[in-house]
Amino acid sequence: MSALLSRLARKGEEEFFTRLLELEKREYGLRYIPANAVGYAVVCPRYGALYAEEREVAVFARALMDRVKYAVLLRIADAKVVDSLVAKAASGDSGAARRLLDVGRGLTTSELQRAFDDLKRDFEHYSKAARGPPPHGSAEEAYHFYKYAEVLPYVGYADVWEDMVIYSIAGVADDYVYVFKYAGGGLQYEIYKAMAAAEGDVAAKIWGRRRVKIHIQPRDAPPRLSWAEPKDPAPHYKALRRGDCRRGPLCRICPWRGDCECFTI
Ligand code: SF4
Repeated sequence: MSALLSRLARKGEEEFFTRLLELEKREYGLRYIPANAVGYAVVCPRYGALYAEEREVAVFARALMDRVKYAVLLRIADAKVVDSLVAKAASGDSGAARRLLDVGRGLTTSELQRAFDDLKRDFEHYSKAARGPPPHGSAEEAYHFYKYAEVLPYVGYADVWEDMVIYSIAGVADDYVYVFKYAGGGLQYEIYKAMAAAEGDVAAKIWGRRRVKIHIQPRDAPPRLSWAEPKDPAPHYKALRRGDCRRGPLCRICPWRGDCECFTI
């Protein structure tokens, strides 16, 4: 990991990552989409599309930090060289920014497996910190994840489909992928499960696994675990790209409801 890059992300340097994302789009023509937007899209494609748009810079920043981290862990890149590229890119050097975008690009899933022990240790480190009462607000979901999720390497990787980089962060076991979902938003269990299964479709495709283990963790109740057979996620991607609205359980919590044609027509 580049210490400088993660410091910029922690400080919320949105302008820096926005500039890098613009460069990425010019050089590679790619949009960044979180796998949970694909989950939302199976319930309402418009919700998924708008959520993905809102999260794009954050997802790109996470994808970039992950690939830099993996490149350093696998000794493909030197941490000091990466820090120097980040510093130069942050001060407006476009050549350095281009070189930074190339760090770790093209790493394969089989190469990444060499970093699994380190990634599993990362999870164990953070799970030790998830003690005491749960925090409120944005840290609540992470707290439950580190406290209750299965101990596995959690890996970020992309399924590139047409011009979309669908970025999945999932647990990877020998013969399944694992999707943890915190059920803190008041939706029904079946809805969380459908969204988690769609995220599992993405991860299973990336990692070539034939089963998806789904963990739905309610706020004050035991976990609900189930298994799913993964399907081709391409139909989800097409629905997300079309972005049609579909009235349903997400409407109650939808921040875009005021502009939604499902309600205004
Ligand atoms: S209001 Fe409902 S139908 Fe419209 S975008 Fe939101 S979730 Fe979808």
